[in-house]
Amino acid sequence: MTTWTNWAGNQTSHPVEVATPRRPDEVCAAIQRAGARGIPVKAVGAGHSFTAVAATDGLHLRLDGLTGITHVDRERSRVRVLAGTPLHVLNPALQALGLALPNLGDIDRQTLAGAISTGTHGTGVRFQGIAAAVSGLVLALADGSLLECSADVEPRVFQAARVGLGALGVITEVELQCVPAFRLHAKEFGADLLEVLDRVADDVEQHDHVDMHWFPLTDRVLVKHNDRVGDDHAGAPLPRWRALLDDELLSNRLFEVTNRAAAAVPAIVPRLNGVAARLLGAREYTDDSWRVFVAERKVRFRESEYAVPRAAVGDVLLEVRSWLARHRAPLTFPLEIRFTGADDIWLSTAHQRENAYVAIHQYHRMDDHGAFAAFEAIVAEHAGRPHWGKLHSLGAEELRVLYPRFDDFLEVRHQLDPGRRFANAYLDRVLGA
Ligand SMILES: Cc1cc2nc3c(=O)[nH]c(=O)nc-3n(C[C@H](O)[C@H](O)[C@H](O)COP(=O)(O)OP(=O)(O)OC[C@H]3O[C@@H](n4cnc5c(N)ncnc54)[C@H](O)[C@@H]3O)c2cc1C
Repeated sequence: MTTWTNWAGNQTSHPVEVATPRRPDEVCAAIQRAGARGIPVKAVGAGHSFTAVAATDGLHLRLDGLTGITHVDRERSRVRVLAGTPLHVLNPALQALGLALPNLGDIDRQTLAGAISTGTHGTGVRFQGIAAAVSGLVLALADGSLLECSADVEPRVFQAARVGLGALGVITEVELQCVPAFRLHAKEFGADLLEVLDRVADDVEQHDHVDMHWFPLTDRVLVKHNDRVGDDHAGAPLPRWRALLDDELLSNRLFEVTNRAAAAVPAIVPRLNGVAARLLGAREYTDDSWRVFVAERKVRFRESEYAVPRAAVGDVLLEVRSWLARHRAPLTFPLEIRFTGADDIWLSTAHQRENAYVAIHQYHRMDDHGAFAAFEAIVAEHAGRPHWGKLHSLGAEELRVLYPRFDDFLEVRHQLDPGRRFANAYLDRVLGA
């Protein structure tokens, strides 16, 4: 028996068997072996979910060996990619082909299949989450067979499997609809929360990708506007010293030190947050899209994130601000606020809804002092849908109300995995046993 722990260190499981298949047929064989033993199966990506969505005490399928681009359709800008490919490998490989994913989240450590399975998203109201770029995928099913799906072939499976929570089978290969490689012009600056909220509705229309980090117990916000620019745009990447200073030293090394200090003396947190908000000052640069979208996150934390209808973002943030002012919970990480357009994927947090995403974090060595529960109570009043990979307490009955196609998803699950080979305790809670 081995022990598996996720990135944040808050989820642990003890799989009785671990397999590292390198080809789709090896995935199928491993699933059949688990069937013969009568043990559950769970694919695990990079372990970057905060929930126990990837945990199992049965067979853990680690897909580190199932990587690479297998086919390029240059005419349609589509690529087929093996499921375990990490985004940090995929992005430069796409760039070499003159292609890119239309949008990305904050980091690139996740595997492609892991990222889409929980609905990983970035920001931009004219864009969607990563799963919306999936034009087809191949699933290894509970009986060990492979099933291919797309909008035309097995369309119900396709609607369920793009954000499938690992509940339907093991994805072996994904087809992605890419876009031509593009550059982003990034503009980052500090601002006041109330002023930001006043103009946020216009800002998210005017800029392609708006991302905000609000430092709790202060009214300081670090605003990021990333806009797509043509090849003739004169902007240049950040000088190496500046990237090292901001991203490596301030955002990671120094931030770890201040978090350790905060864990020892929580009373200093409001002062620390004020200083941190000012240290990360204004900057402007232009670079390849994926280099601008992602950053390195070395300081470990726990996180909860909810999607709320876009228009509710001001109310949610003001309610959180008022709760924090009353309770003084020493949160050391900024809350992150992002926006995306709607999509049609059944269990996507953006299913038929334009969203604002609000994420609350806490350093992994510190208690959240009730802030996560208070945050959940606030977003519950605004039809908040939790990120499937981030901490939340909702169960199947509450989620059914939030997702109009919830029962369709369960029907496909029942059809593909009647014996619940791919179940675990988290899925029992959010989908029902
Ligand atoms: C530092 C950090 C930053 C983050 N930033 C963002 C962000 O900007 N935006 C955002 O939306 N989320 C973000 N996340 C959350 C993260 O993107 C998701 O939790 C994602 O699912 C993690 O991918 P993974 O490869 O680690 O998958 P895991 O966490 O290992 O697995 C996630 C799910 O995918 C399933 N799975 C994995 N591989 C397969 C497969 N081949 N077939 C079927 N199911 C599979 C697993 O069983 C599990 O259900 C962040 C997380 C961290 C720790």
